[in-house]
Amino acid sequence: MAGRTPGDFGLLLHAARFAAWKHRHQRRKGAARLPYINHPLDLAHALWFEGGVRDEITLAAALLHDTIEDTQTTVQELQGEFGETVAEVVMETTDEPSVHWRVRKKLQVTRARTASRRAREVRLADKLCNLRSLVASPPQRWTLERQREYFDWAKRVVDQMRGTNAELEAKFDQIYRQRP
Ligand code: ZN
Repeated sequence: MAGRTPGDFGLLLHAARFAAWKHRHQRRKGAARLPYINHPLDLAHALWFEGGVRDEITLAAALLHDTIEDTQTTVQELQGEFGETVAEVVMETTDEPSVHWRVRKKLQVTRARTASRRAREVRLADKLCNLRSLVASPPQRWTLERQREYFDWAKRVVDQMRGTNAELEAKFDQIYRQRP
């Protein structure tokens, strides 16, 4: 944690670099096959420029939000690199891997309301960016039905978090109108 005190841009640079390394072999599902790291960067960008979020813990957690779920990263590793608070927010936005995906999706809806403000903002940005990715470049094998299901599920999660960040919620509603 040396030199990575709150308010320090070093925390964000460290998180961006860490996430880029962890996701280095992954691509996004969309037909454009973008490098995976574009997604966490999109989240942090949306939080800062659209949501007005200036809290570096939230921004760092956004950059790291998929590392535990989608790469070989442990919570201990995040604690060591970024401190307890960042690790906790990432854990809050990580789905339970041991349960069926249908249950996981349900859990995201029920847990959204009680999550911390930081975790809710990361989740909001995640749903916003995922819908934008879907609109811009839907995965080749996704049927219209599946895309619609994803849109509706994302909305159910966001509806649980209304009142968290008006700007991000408005942006979400905007992209939701493009439901296929
Ligand atoms: Zn994500």
